[in-house]
Amino acid sequence: MSALKHRLKTTLLGAWARLAWHTPLGKLVDGRTARRLLILYGHCVDDPSLNGELHADMKIGAGQLEEILKALAKRFDLVTISEGMERLQSGAPGRSMVALSMDDGYRDNLLRLVPLLESVGAKATVFLEAGAVVERRLPWLHALGWLDGKLGAEPLAKRLANDLPEVREALLGCASSNRLKRILKYDAEPVARDHVLMELVTEHGGEPREIVDRLYLSLEEARRLAASECIEIGGHTVNHPVLARLRKADQLAEIAGGAKQLRGALEPAQTGAVFAYPYGRAWDFNGGSKEAAAEAAYTYAVTTHDGVNRKGTDPFALKRVPIHGGSKLHRLFAEASGSLELFRGS
Ligand SMILES: [Zn+2]
Repeated sequence: MSALKHRLKTTLLGAWARLAWHTPLGKLVDGRTARRLLILYGHCVDDPSLNGELHADMKIGAGQLEEILKALAKRFDLVTISEGMERLQSGAPGRSMVALSMDDGYRDNLLRLVPLLESVGAKATVFLEAGAVVERRLPWLHALGWLDGKLGAEPLAKRLANDLPEVREALLGCASSNRLKRILKYDAEPVARDHVLMELVTEHGGEPREIVDRLYLSLEEARRLAASECIEIGGHTVNHPVLARLRKADQLAEIAGGAKQLRGALEPAQTGAVFAYPYGRAWDFNGGSKEAAAEAAYTYAVTTHDGVNRKGTDPFALKRVPIHGGSKLHRLFAEASGSLELFRGS
């Protein structure tokens, strides 16, 4: 029953979004409701050399992204997240806004995203993982992806069961990549997990540093990215942990530690105002994470909850809508115009 209800709601939302885009309805809602900021989030502008190493839903093609940004720019101002929030909070009148953001710090953000933004006249906020970009350490999720591709989920889970006793039973019954990822993300002890994954990569002929260098911006590239007029740099912790699983002091070490590394390495970069909670769902961060982000001198923090932001939105729980190859322009326009929020009744 709940699956049926969910399907019905999705279908209705899609129909409503089409109506907002193809009829004057969206413009009407945009003009009649309070000024808002839609924040989009993706990971990388499609780069064939990264195929297979990054999930399809982490990529959007350059042509598609350009088309979306150009269409949205006709009706909305394209801004960075902190610019957009400052404008909302000032209470000044003006068009509603769209901010693009990209998480983690992949190489294409400099090589493909920046030229695209320059040609469209758009901006973006890029959130950098300090452990990967500054320290050049391979994040566990990429180690997992590499090993999964090499060994397959089931044999890999069995192999990991030997070394991770607290999740041994769950791993022995695990047959899918998604389930394996969930167990390692939420239930395994992070230090032991990271250690065993790195050892396994090396054992199977992989070179963790080489994988980091292939996927992530080099420090030099990150500096060039930060120096770009169209880019705002944001923080994204050191090790990309599930913050809600950490004590407050450890959350602060991750958030403030990452901020310190970025502010040191990218000087005199445009860094410091915005932070992104890793993973960003309601169960991935908590009140302690919000306090730690404020203590690390951030002004805003973004989640991965769907919706738009207004003047009164909690600045440490800003909403974002995903953008990837499957994204539809009518849907994003409906979000930006406030039409979907109207439908949701929130
Ligand atoms: Zn991330």
